[in-house]
Amino acid sequence: MARQGSIIVTGGASGIGLAVVEELLAEGWRVVAADLVPENVEKARAALAAHGDAARVVEADISDEAQVVKLVTETEASFGPLWGMVNSAGIARDIPALETSAELFRKILDVNVVGTFLMAREAAKVMQARGAGSIVNIASVSGIRGNLGRSAYGSSKGAVVVLTKILAVEFAAMGIRVNAIAPGPVETPLVKAVHTAESRAAWLRTVPLKRYAEPKEMAGTIAFLLDPEKSSYVTGQTINVDGGFTAGGLIGL
Ligand code: NAD
Repeated sequence: MARQGSIIVTGGASGIGLAVVEELLAEGWRVVAADLVPENVEKARAALAAHGDAARVVEADISDEAQVVKLVTETEASFGPLWGMVNSAGIARDIPALETSAELFRKILDVNVVGTFLMAREAAKVMQARGAGSIVNIASVSGIRGNLGRSAYGSSKGAVVVLTKILAVEFAAMGIRVNAIAPGPVETPLVKAVHTAESRAAWLRTVPLKRYAEPKEMAGTIAFLLDPEKSSYVTGQTINVDGGFTAGGLIGL
């Protein structure tokens, strides 16, 4: 069934973002996948070619304010009224606090927090004219729990959790809902780059479902949070899609 409106998915050329793009296209939305890395953009264009003009893949850096403004205004003007925004673009490092430089810490905050904020702010500017819209941010269980090696990344994702609440409160009067998901470990290129054999074993010991998620297992919750009917009274929430990780304490002997 064709849906009314378009949705931008940042980081939409890889991992969770790409899986969300595919899910939303299957649901009948028009989708713009925006991504920084040219090779990812090219691959995603080829992968989504069968969807014709319902899918658009563009290059954009969410930490660059001018590019964010251009992405949102061009989508609204030439692709269809913007209904939704999924902020999946993000970067991660797993590194001890004592080895984390100010430069690395700032870079992670710049993309994961400032980039997410800029996209949400610009989306809300165009959505408010119609008094309707839904924004979904991607936090992490590392923004909720004190996971080893995540001083910069976990701080950035904790900020996304509270940013989600603040924007939900500020945008409510405009008819715009703002929610987040906090994924546990998901088998994506980012995780393949960051997780070692030891950290994989540690995750498998601490996740009650005893496995990593596939990217498409994040897409259903995100699609629910974008749905104008199914989640119409849900805002300011972070849903942990984590195989039970944040529920767990002593989970085995
Ligand atoms: P991924 O690396 O497969 O995809 C992220 C995409 O974001 C990449 O294509 C990358 O090019 C893009 N990107 C990075 N910086 C960007 C920028 N400045 N502007 C535009 N695009 C940019 O990673 P993923 O695992 O799919 O992660 C997606 C989101 O989910 C991230 O925010 C990540 O922190 C979060 N997350 C992932 C996991 C996991 O286990 N994979 C767990 C919790 C949270």
